[in-house]
Amino acid sequence: MDKKDWLSKVVALPNGLNLFLIKINFFPQLFLGKAYRNYRRKLKQQHYLSYDYTTSLINLVNNSIKKIPYYKTYAPINSLADFQQQIGFIDKEVVMANFNDFVDPEIDKTRYVEGTTGGTSGKPLRLLIPKNRHVFELATMHTMWETTGWKYHPRAVIRNHKLKPGEIYRINPITKEFIFDGFRISFDYFESIYQTLKKFNISFIHAYPSTAYEFALFLREKKKDISFINTFLSGSENIYEYQTDLIEKQLGIRFYNWYGHSEKLILGGYCKDTQVYHLENTYGFAELIDENNQIISEVGKRGELVGTTLKNPGMPLIRYRTDDFAEYIGNYCPHCKRNVLLVKNIVGRWSGERIYNKDGSFVTTTALNLHSDLYKKINGIQYIQNKKGILKILIIKTAEYSAEDEKTLKEHFLKTLNKDIILIIEYVDHLIKQNNGKFLHLISKVK
Ligand SMILES: [Zn+2]
Repeated sequence: MDKKDWLSKVVALPNGLNLFLIKINFFPQLFLGKAYRNYRRKLKQQHYLSYDYTTSLINLVNNSIKKIPYYKTYAPINSLADFQQQIGFIDKEVVMANFNDFVDPEIDKTRYVEGTTGGTSGKPLRLLIPKNRHVFELATMHTMWETTGWKYHPRAVIRNHKLKPGEIYRINPITKEFIFDGFRISFDYFESIYQTLKKFNISFIHAYPSTAYEFALFLREKKKDISFINTFLSGSENIYEYQTDLIEKQLGIRFYNWYGHSEKLILGGYCKDTQVYHLENTYGFAELIDENNQIISEVGKRGELVGTTLKNPGMPLIRYRTDDFAEYIGNYCPHCKRNVLLVKNIVGRWSGERIYNKDGSFVTTTALNLHSDLYKKINGIQYIQNKKGILKILIIKTAEYSAEDEKTLKEHFLKTLNKDIILIIEYVDHLIKQNNGKFLHLISKVK
């Protein structure tokens, strides 16, 4: 039986039994295997020292030049400067069009699996990924989470699981997860989640940022005791200021975010004292480039994240443009004293952030950001665009929301978008979630 089957059988056991197992599972690290423990130990040593990733990078590139057909024409490199001068960029289209050329012809197929990158739009990308990828991924993720005080604590997981009707949660005693239904977003169900958290003293909640925000709204509105809740562990979506404002400023709960993407080249999260992504150069090599393909070194400048694998020699993607954009902060964090690429305000491809005017010009949803006073009067906002020049806005009102606010809102949009934009405001009880449980700020059919 492979590990996944075994795990799903465990999760299917009665909750009472799993509750007992979770209580005696003092050392979940043991279940994650020896390779995981060794790599974790190594990361802990490297984490706070200045880790030199250049040797791994140079080796990866030179091995790829030797073995991978796509890179055959490159001359070997000796330094980071060589890397940045000689090696060109690739993107999803290039990899899709030349799939076989990116694969090591002598690859040991037993050590790789084929996966596809999900995505809400466009064709998925096929990739070969090492079977042991969870070792690096989990170890890196756990090292990042540890900065919040998490130490293999039980976690509530409200993500992409669908449970049976009436079923409140399921337990995975191995990973110490209380798994909730990510598609049943309502105050009634949130009440059940909250009671479960309180009963078992669960202080870490693993949820998409949008779900964390909705749950936080529930906590605030119902004036719940949140003294035992430590952190929302959140990733995989864009973060909005109103989310951080509610969770951290109003409720005083840590809103810990990380960035990763399906090609698994870059991974990074906040450190203990910042809300800045620290891109982990033990995991992959990250660069930020401007529109002229130049490395960004100017604080505040936005550019595209480019990733190079350090862990996938069988199908190495080198200088892969992620189509995700971020703002440059620096290469050194004075708080945790680490030398890593620091970025903030990551805006991912996953949300297709552009809202189009009739004439084809566009603004991003970031530019549409509302005044924070208005955010206090709404419990959620979502944009839908099926045609250029027409924008539907879904809003969940609070009791404080008035006709005056609708006027302010319309004026704001007309100021930011073109005057001829047709605005349709619709008041709703729920916003729309994707089939995988994710929330998109903008659902756009416009290409
Ligand atoms: Zn830091």
